[in-house]
Amino acid sequence: MDLKRQKTEQAAAAHGFVIDTRRELPQTGAVLWQMHFAKNGARLLWLERGEENKTFAAAFKTLPSDDTGVFHILEHSLLCGSRKYPVSKPFVEMIKSSLQTFMNAFTFPDKTMYPVSSRNQKDFLNLVDVYLDAVLHPLCLEKEEIFRQEGWHYELDSQEGELSCNGVVYNEMKGMYASPDTLIDSALNRALFPDNCYQFQSGGDPACIPALTYEEYKAQYREYYHPSGAWFLLDGEMEIGPVLEKIGQALSGFEPQQEDHPIPLQSPVHPDETRLPYETGEEDIAKKTILAKGWVYGRYDEPEKDLACQALCEMLCGSNEAPLKKALLERGLAENVEFSKVDGVQQPFAVLVVRNAAGDQEQEIWDTVRTVLEQLAAQGLDHRRLEAVISRMEFRYREKETGGFPQGLVNCMKMLESCLYGGDPAQNLCLGDAFLRLREGIEGGYFEQFIRENFLENPHCAQVVLFPSRELGERKRKEEAERFRRIKESWSSQEREQVIQKLAALRAFQNRPDRPQDLAALPVLSLADIEEETPDIPQQVTEEAGVRVLCHPLETEGIAHLVWYFLAGDLTEEELHLLSFLQTLLGQTRTARFSVLELAASLEGELGRFQTSVEVFAPRGETATCKPCFAVHVSALEEKLEEAKELTREVLLDTDFGDLAYLRGRLRQLRLSLEQHVLMHGDSYASLRIAAGCSAKGGAREALRGVSMLDWLREMDSQFEERGAELAGRLKELCRRLFVRRRAVLSVTGQIPGEKIAGLASSLPEGEAPAEAASWFRRRQVREGILVPAPVGFAGKGGHLAQCGARYSGAMAVAARILSYGYLWNTVRVKGGAYGTRLAITPGGDVAFTSFRDPSAAASLAAFDKAGASLRELCASGQELTSYIISTIAATEPLLTARQKGMQAAEDYMEQVTGQMRQRDRRQILCTTKEDLEKVSRILDEICEKGGSCIVGGQEILEAADGALSCRRDL
Ligand SMILES: [Zn+2]
Repeated sequence: MDLKRQKTEQAAAAHGFVIDTRRELPQTGAVLWQMHFAKNGARLLWLERGEENKTFAAAFKTLPSDDTGVFHILEHSLLCGSRKYPVSKPFVEMIKSSLQTFMNAFTFPDKTMYPVSSRNQKDFLNLVDVYLDAVLHPLCLEKEEIFRQEGWHYELDSQEGELSCNGVVYNEMKGMYASPDTLIDSALNRALFPDNCYQFQSGGDPACIPALTYEEYKAQYREYYHPSGAWFLLDGEMEIGPVLEKIGQALSGFEPQQEDHPIPLQSPVHPDETRLPYETGEEDIAKKTILAKGWVYGRYDEPEKDLACQALCEMLCGSNEAPLKKALLERGLAENVEFSKVDGVQQPFAVLVVRNAAGDQEQEIWDTVRTVLEQLAAQGLDHRRLEAVISRMEFRYREKETGGFPQGLVNCMKMLESCLYGGDPAQNLCLGDAFLRLREGIEGGYFEQFIRENFLENPHCAQVVLFPSRELGERKRKEEAERFRRIKESWSSQEREQVIQKLAALRAFQNRPDRPQDLAALPVLSLADIEEETPDIPQQVTEEAGVRVLCHPLETEGIAHLVWYFLAGDLTEEELHLLSFLQTLLGQTRTARFSVLELAASLEGELGRFQTSVEVFAPRGETATCKPCFAVHVSALEEKLEEAKELTREVLLDTDFGDLAYLRGRLRQLRLSLEQHVLMHGDSYASLRIAAGCSAKGGAREALRGVSMLDWLREMDSQFEERGAELAGRLKELCRRLFVRRRAVLSVTGQIPGEKIAGLASSLPEGEAPAEAASWFRRRQVREGILVPAPVGFAGKGGHLAQCGARYSGAMAVAARILSYGYLWNTVRVKGGAYGTRLAITPGGDVAFTSFRDPSAAASLAAFDKAGASLRELCASGQELTSYIISTIAATEPLLTARQKGMQAAEDYMEQVTGQMRQRDRRQILCTTKEDLEKVSRILDEICEKGGSCIVGGQEILEAADGALSCRRDL
């Protein structure tokens, strides 16, 4: 038996847990542990896998029995202090001082979940501790003020005053109920599930929230927040002993509670149509009716049906060309049609929403929906398209780029979405076979059958019609005012006095500051707790067919993430503009084989991703030379690598630039979007301009995406008649010169067999290697004003560490954070009125102070000059550095997906940054002293004196800055 397994088994036994099962899940490379706490039956699941970010979630089955939103109010309340941590917002305090990568809470129709995550074991334990105390010993059970603040309370200031209602959740749900979507959702649930908890609105209906009493709220907590009915979920690689110890300690005070709260399955119902008014302010309400229909198509333990339904939603209504949507739009029956599914509940259902219909065409709409579905079921769907839709879905499932949510959190939710109903927690983690079965089902008519069974002949469905009303809002407001008036009138003057007193007490409670000793009780890290080193990203450098290949054998679930870098160090400045233009064309311009639309369809159907970008690399501290590169990012399932190779080749080598009208259109679009972009993000153009005066890398970046690129686009646009054909020819020539093996570096992320990589590498012609990189990109350093046609302002000032003979160190990141959140925040933002400001010091050596939407850009330039002095003041004070250091570490190391890790390793390779250098940066951040900061402050003084500055702004802003600028130009 292996050691790790043995350790887990011993830890479980030592801390009161019984292991029920331990399973290896081959599709995910993870081990799933299922345990329960011997004393009271609390369930614990751990998805043990090679992921350094550790996730914990406490989850409770919470089944509403009315529309008061009690579980939503409890979710908010539990975040307002607990027995061990009696401060008003423990969560905000933890965010400021910990290395957390996620903290939040969610209320669902049948459960409430409290997740946290961190990469650091001790930090993770601290967060788990705070969360366990919050859910098991919340202060809100003793402090009615918390219920009143988060839920609802009456507001009455005097005997004569007007009575009203307030509260965080009450207001939140009032906002939600202003949306017709919430009305549809709640009406459909009520109609489809009349016999179980799903008929109720878990968030709370504002009309019902004030019916909730404090006693009932506490009773619901006691009923559902007991460990016997709870799940404690863990995900990732962790030292499990201390985690089980912590959870075991928290659970040990609870006796078993027998209630299990099963949710009865809803048997099929087919209720009458629900008809409801909704509020609209619009004048013309002739075509404002909204129709919705819901079909219950399966159970939580049929994930294949979920996927099939999702594919059908996309097939039927995914675009204006999709058959069901097209039929309704073409006949003028609606302006928009959406088809989606509601899952993560015991009985998932599909929802069709038809928007902006005429009230008298309801029958015609339902007839059309039926006819189209019947035709598709009888004559068959487009199977090639279905195949492509399933491919994209499978790609997204495997890729797991979860849009800001840690993967561990998504895994915890997936486990809960089956085990909450008594199912297997692994069910939704391993969907690979389900995709296979769906593909096999295409030809056998599985999807046509699905339409018949679930949409045409389904006995479990309901319809909702929302008709517009201009008077409803006014009527509701009058009714509400009348209701409050009557309530107040029914009270005696003593009762009114009580309400006034209670409100005063609530305000006093809210204004009471946290006691210092309570704040100090929150667990915080010390520097000694932070590991000195972080794991390196694995990278093997080989050569295949003359191409340098960087392999990152990370787990990517069968997806290959490729980045081709083509070295362009021999290009002239003018050719860099051309390169930047080329980047916006490839993949979106016709090729030898495909029209623009055909190309889009192929790239979408075969690949998960096809993107291009232009990058500039240089070793740290290097100012004389740089390596501009054209990058092509392709992600595809491993079995689609052959198609990826062919399509990449087609785009890179066979793009046809001969359609001059198309070319000119793209040129104009790019020019317009850049002009708009400068107005929105002038700060980044100012810093590009400054960096261009400091290094070759800065110069090349400015040529690719700065103001000088805009100059080139304007010139080409104005001379397009004479030079258009020549431009097309030069683009073609640039492709021929650039996209060759001798210029390529190929980054591969994923566990891809060597022979497949060799095949990719040999797909391009050999070509010639570029000449050595040149240095003439660097521009002259200036103090420049760039006039824009809008009353906005952006200030920038900075330079390069090399100007002061300095090199990057981790202490600079700490200094930048201190100044950005301290001195600059107070001076430029709070006092100066800018919307944003920061100091950035990159490992490459660029130093830039910037301000964003700044009404006093000239004053900001002067404020930047004093940043060094303010840092010295801080050093002389007794200010502690620890929390700044910890949050600098957290900020410099965001969570990365496997693809992003591979990309970071490849970029480090291109810049000659080694793992040791990254570890050194980290150590330097951790050991930053006031002496280090003092040194950084002198460097900042020198940069401000020797460096450049740039203001992007309107007439008045530039005039105010006249003395500080040496030259001026129009955008
Ligand atoms: Zn909320």
